[in-house]
Amino acid sequence: MKAAICYEAGKPLVVDEVTLDAPEKGEVKIRVSAVAVCHSDLHAIKGELPGKLPGVPGHEVAGYVEEIGEGVTQVKPGDPIVASCVNAGCGHCYYCNVGLRHMCTGIDMRAIFEKGGHHIDKNGTRLRPMAGPVGGFAEYTVVSQYQLAIIPDDLPMDRACLLACGVMTGFGAVHNRAQVKPMSSVIVMGAGGVGMNVIQGSAHAGAYPIIAVDIRDDKLEMAKIFGATHGINTAKEKDPVEAVRKLTSGRGADYGFLTVGSMEALRTGFNMLGRRGMFVVIGIAMGDMKDFRAGEFIGSEKILTGSMMGSTRLDIDVARYAELYQAGQLKLDELIAGHYPLDKINEAIASLDSGAVLRNIIMF
Ligand SMILES: [Zn+2]
Ligand SMILES: [Zn+2]
Repeated sequence: MKAAICYEAGKPLVVDEVTLDAPEKGEVKIRVSAVAVCHSDLHAIKGELPGKLPGVPGHEVAGYVEEIGEGVTQVKPGDPIVASCVNAGCGHCYYCNVGLRHMCTGIDMRAIFEKGGHHIDKNGTRLRPMAGPVGGFAEYTVVSQYQLAIIPDDLPMDRACLLACGVMTGFGAVHNRAQVKPMSSVIVMGAGGVGMNVIQGSAHAGAYPIIAVDIRDDKLEMAKIFGATHGINTAKEKDPVEAVRKLTSGRGADYGFLTVGSMEALRTGFNMLGRRGMFVVIGIAMGDMKDFRAGEFIGSEKILTGSMMGSTRLDIDVARYAELYQAGQLKLDELIAGHYPLDKINEAIASLDSGAVLRNIIMF
């Protein structure tokens, strides 16, 4: 079988023949139908995320269960699924029982990631999954049964794979973590693949205004398709914080979401909130928080928190998103820029890296 291998950070991936271990206890072999290229893959390929090389990136997978290992109860061969980095939950621990399955302590996703590496290259080197424990830039992969959600069999696979990361991360941060209220105001730092899903989630929640903040006018324009009511270009706007205040009756926004990995955007976005506002960090911003003062949390009672991949309840939410898409209430078609075969994966990656597109899909 073929896989796209990252041997050296920052270099093009190498598409080559590999072998794959059979699924062990609790594991599932997936025949990959479609996998989206995400910015987390770009970060991993560029060496900006921790992890050893060589490896196989790709973590937004839709496909079919090919074979199951011992003790697998969640899926059976032939099931259409998405495979993701989210912990579906053991169903028994404290967090699973209080409805926070993504916080499950019964399944150790870190250990699953560390174990990783079911693909083996021609030299006998074990290839690690990159940007999450999936290894999806390959014709087949092996993952834990606790990373899977079953999808309707009539959902197109190129749409379905988007549900495995970008959609759940954005939409879920709005509905599961922030629980955005109708008529409240929202700012979204970064109008990329995840940002667009925060925007459409906020529109779905009945928020107004929904203000997209980015440095590219074309993305701000695209954000309107997903429900943004206003756009602020921080590269052009002299005082973006003041601009948000003007759009929110002088108060500042009720909710803010950071979808880009920038500490500066985190600070600016937090400043854009009004009193009691909640700021949710979604994108991995590398850096420390030394320019935040304890006093500003007291005076304004603002909340700064995060959301782990949309605080997603894998089985419940993915099924929900599939229903919303089929009912015309969730935009997936508009997220897709292009389809590529695995052999042209470096073109798909370069196109995403140029900043011009939201998602490119590798089709098998
Ligand atoms: Zn992703
Ligand atoms: Zn659990």
